Amino acid sequence: MRFVVFFCLFCLFTIPGFSQRGPTAVARSGEGVHALLRRNGLAESRHFLQFLSLNRGRLTAGNGLMAGRTYRLPARGKSAAAAPKAPARASASSSASVLHAPIFGPKHSRVRVLDRSMRGAVYYLSPGHGGPDPGAVGKYGKHRLAEDEYAYDVTLRLARVLMEHGATVYMLIQDPNDGIRDEQFLKIDYDELTYPHQRIPLNQLARLRQRIAQANQLHARHKGAYQRLLSLHVDSRSQGQKIDVFFYHHANSAAGLRTARSIHRVFTNRYARAQPNRPYSGNVLPRSSLYEVRTSHAPAVFMELGNIHNSRDQPRFLLPDNRQALANWIYEGLRADFKGR
Ligand SMILES: [Zn+2]
Repeated sequence: MRFVVFFCLFCLFTIPGFSQRGPTAVARSGEGVHALLRRNGLAESRHFLQFLSLNRGRLTAGNGLMAGRTYRLPARGKSAAAAPKAPARASASSSASVLHAPIFGPKHSRVRVLDRSMRGAVYYLSPGHGGPDPGAVGKYGKHRLAEDEYAYDVTLRLARVLMEHGATVYMLIQDPNDGIRDEQFLKIDYDELTYPHQRIPLNQLARLRQRIAQANQLHARHKGAYQRLLSLHVDSRSQGQKIDVFFYHHANSAAGLRTARSIHRVFTNRYARAQPNRPYSGNVLPRSSLYEVRTSHAPAVFMELGNIHNSRDQPRFLLPDNRQALANWIYEGLRADFKGR
């Protein structure tokens, strides 16, 4: 069943007719794809996927809309009998203040845009692993901890903060039903997809290739913009090894190095304040052999948030407040880098 859906979606993307100009509509404040389709007399069930494919590269994380932005509408099918409930007239909303991003889950899907300080910055967020591959799996008591679930939650939180400040964000991996979770133990599942709606292959190289191909395609579309790719991991070392947060960049990427250093600086300062007796030993290192770092057209930073097997590292990602703090610190580093560009 699932396979059929993906197959059809893939067909949509390859039908050349969809690149033609057609009707458009401007998203209103707080409006999601479904509401916009309804307002323009389009059936959600019939046109949702078509809408996504028509507007690839123009949606926010979780296929949300940017208020005030113009979107292309699918052509109404012959059998779509429903009359438009509202005229499909474009009307730009003046102060776009609320975004609707279902990917964050019902509790967090309304994103209030606090300011536009990150306007113009484009981020590709790549939480490690996902789909059939849970990544490293640790243990805490009787609980199994999957790297992909924790990396995903921190990444979602980061996406949300960035959107609150007007950045354009692509979640390269998306779980349709997890959202931001406030539990300590995150259920392991296998239904994550690659943006916008692709099944994740099991093979590691195919998996990475899929998401980077997507990111690089979008990168071309945002040509000239400040763009960064971030890959977040909670990796696996031997049990006794506690690791501080590490940052990797491409040896030849000055921009990637700058971004990594900028985030690292925030972590250094925050740790000095939070635990003055223990020096922070996380570092910025070149590691050009990492597939994402090597092949992303956007300068990339690969982060390791801790060792999933180490009991002193585990609270860093088991506690939801800590996951939020990680996201906030990364955001602060990204903001400083963007401002200083
Ligand atoms: Zn990993």
